[in-house]
Amino acid sequence: MENVKSIYTHAPGGGVEIGDLPLERLPEQNVRLKVLYSGLCGTDRGIVSGALSFAYNPEGSDRLVIGHESLCMIDEIYEESDEFKKGDLVVPVVRRPGDCVNCRIGRQDNCSDGDKHEAGITGMNGFMREYFYDNLEYLVKVPDPGMRDIAVLTEPLKNVVKGFEVFDVISKRSVYANEYSTFEEKRCMVIGTGAEAFLYSMVAVEYGFTVTMVNRHPLEERKIEIAKEFGIQFIDYVSDPKGAMANGNDLLIDTSGDPGTIFKFLKTLNYNGILVLFGTNGKAPSAQVDGSDIDFLIERNITVAGSVDAAKIHYIKALEYLRKWKYVYGDSLSHLITGDFPPENLDLFSRKPSGEIKTVLRW
Ligand code: NAP
Ligand code: ZN
Repeated sequence: MENVKSIYTHAPGGGVEIGDLPLERLPEQNVRLKVLYSGLCGTDRGIVSGALSFAYNPEGSDRLVIGHESLCMIDEIYEESDEFKKGDLVVPVVRRPGDCVNCRIGRQDNCSDGDKHEAGITGMNGFMREYFYDNLEYLVKVPDPGMRDIAVLTEPLKNVVKGFEVFDVISKRSVYANEYSTFEEKRCMVIGTGAEAFLYSMVAVEYGFTVTMVNRHPLEERKIEIAKEFGIQFIDYVSDPKGAMANGNDLLIDTSGDPGTIFKFLKTLNYNGILVLFGTNGKAPSAQVDGSDIDFLIERNITVAGSVDAAKIHYIKALEYLRKWKYVYGDSLSHLITGDFPPENLDLFSRKPSGEIKTVLRW
């Protein structure tokens, strides 16, 4: 069996190492992938720090290859395919189905018994390695080879596309649009300023919302400039509390996972407002909720919805957004990738580079 350079941890304890690990090919695996880029996110850092107790190694192994955001190239294909060929750029899906009804229809993002696996997170080796074997069924083709510099954003963006699918369903419970049936003058606030916050804000701009991102500290000038390029306003809610609370919001999206901040901004929601909970932080301090908060939600018909992961359809739509944005924003789109490092830079797992939006490893 050949060995390939891999980044791995010992889940759920944590730690991070790079080294040559054996590459196994299972009988059902009909494609060999060469990894071009891996995206690094909060989940990878959480696994490495040992903060994510739900992470676990593949059965029978004491280590887990990490990484779930990637752009790959088909290196070898072992089966006839009308859709794929050697050299195609592809994005592998993260979640792999169990046997529940949602998993059986390709909606393992809505798995109803928890019996799915996630590459690089729960019981399945991930994508932070030079090569791996997979099944064509779990690949999404990048439609345009010119997207090589930005297609690694497909995985984080697919979460956002699903978040907006949840919004689309919920917003039907009342007339949500304005009298022209558009979202003009509707306001969306996004808590947090990381990669997911930027991508949520960009899709909200697409919908026609006026979008504000908030954080509890000033933002690096460079990040403010990038936000402006995409039509997104930023407010530091500590230095400008009045500005942050000045307007009612119709859609609130949280990427911080901080209950105190969420409840603070929940109070800015207008009638029929929607809160999408996306950020996770099991270590965030508790916050107090009283009866008047509950009354507020009820009297305004406010909906609170959690949203996790996404399905193949959302990867495909994410690629459509990226293709369109590359046309609309040109080179500015690649500014979302704020760092591009060789995989040996393991310190990236324990420190966020200043001004980070998305850090990637180039294999
Ligand atoms: P990230 O860069 O760590 O984003 C979190 C953002 O929240 C950061 O900008 C952080 O600010 C900000 N933040 C933290 N506490 C805050 C507070 N009290 N007020 C305002 N902002 C605050 O990670 P990401 O990759 O964009 O992901 C965002 C979150 O979604 C993470 O929690 C991640 O685990 C989660 N996630 C969820 C799913 C899902 O399917 N639901 C999928 C992927 C990721 P600073 O770092 O600047 O201080
Ligand atoms: Zn399932």
